[in-house]
Amino acid sequence: MRLYTGFLVHPLPQGGLEYLLDGALVVSDFGQIVFMGARADALCDYADIPEEHCENAVILPGMVDTHVHLPQYEAAAIGTGELLNWLNTYIFPLEARFADEEYAHIQSQRFFYDAVRLGTTTMSVYCSSHRRATDIAFEAAFHAGLRVCMGKTMMDNNAPENILYSPDENINDSLALAKAWHGAGNGRLQYTLTPRFAGSCSRELLKKTGETAHAEGLRIQTHLSENPSELRFIAELFPEHASYTDVYHAYGLLTDKTIMAHSIYLSSQEKSLLKAHNCAIAHCPCSNRFLQSGVMALRQMLNEGLRIGLGSDVAGGSSLSMFNEAKEAAESSKTWNILHRAQEMPTVGAEEALWLATLGGARALGLDEVIGNFTVGKDADFIVCDLNEILPQKSSFVSPENIISRLVYGAHPHVVSKTVVQGKVVYQKQNSR
Ligand SMILES: [Zn+2]
Repeated sequence: MRLYTGFLVHPLPQGGLEYLLDGALVVSDFGQIVFMGARADALCDYADIPEEHCENAVILPGMVDTHVHLPQYEAAAIGTGELLNWLNTYIFPLEARFADEEYAHIQSQRFFYDAVRLGTTTMSVYCSSHRRATDIAFEAAFHAGLRVCMGKTMMDNNAPENILYSPDENINDSLALAKAWHGAGNGRLQYTLTPRFAGSCSRELLKKTGETAHAEGLRIQTHLSENPSELRFIAELFPEHASYTDVYHAYGLLTDKTIMAHSIYLSSQEKSLLKAHNCAIAHCPCSNRFLQSGVMALRQMLNEGLRIGLGSDVAGGSSLSMFNEAKEAAESSKTWNILHRAQEMPTVGAEEALWLATLGGARALGLDEVIGNFTVGKDADFIVCDLNEILPQKSSFVSPENIISRLVYGAHPHVVSKTVVQGKVVYQKQNSR
């Protein structure tokens, strides 16, 4: 067993954060939380366990990235233009490179190493469309030690020939990968059926994806309602359907294990469909700005009871840092208000943004029984953040709320000093002060 002590931040199921200034976390040899509470109590009840005291630090649940593209990492922060042109110009040629196994291996290792270094412990990942490259990505995730819900991106339409596969090839490859990896690594690795979006999938592929998800009980991840040109494109491709969401509904892709990225321009009928099927949304505010896609009405959608997590959407988003994404979630809720003065809503603050990046993400992925906060019985997925990186010495603003605000708004790239998944240290900063 291990005993960690210091300033603990525990996201609450009903919303909000609980602060334990002199707190303790006891982790079993199996990587589960067996105690969370006051340090004094832990020192008494677990007197025989050596204490690891995190001085001038904050212990948070690991960050959950609900939407990210591994093969796009090399394009992060590069390129201009809006979604459809950007995909054709920068992204499809890059994803085609994953036919090269050595390249896929190097990129996958770097991607997961950078994620844990930035404090992300769980990711919902789109791989390239290649079966072997997806296999390599799972191997890399296994060795990096983090938690993933991941799949090969399925496409059979409207992209370069060299990254397209037939519906049967896509489904058979996905099933083979799921058989090899779903539940591996003590449950850390899970397979997600990953049709890119309705624009790159035929009706046959969408139908087979829906059938497979139901038969196998697998998660689905895809994109929905991101950009005005994309909406026109989908309406032209599927004129028989009332809406973009209705396309997915018709082919059985709306399930309680489905996570839709973006979802900016939804009608009330579409939101009702998502709610009726208990689908989740990956809100990707950095990407929404980088690709000029739009500003999602986050507060309104939270008020409507939609299940929402945050996604970096690298490389639409330019960083794997979920602190950065939390900041942008807060800022874009203000931008929405600026654009809709007459319907102003309460903005999302730093604490709520952090909640969305942790327990909110866990809920969106259906993993909140396992991760997302420090409830006893959950897996010990957490990070230690070094406050020396974000607060000046003798700062007069050291309330818990201000520390969270500094973490979200001013996260230094080296703020994470330790990342732990299922009780195992998967990243430790060298020369930690
Ligand atoms: Zn995306």
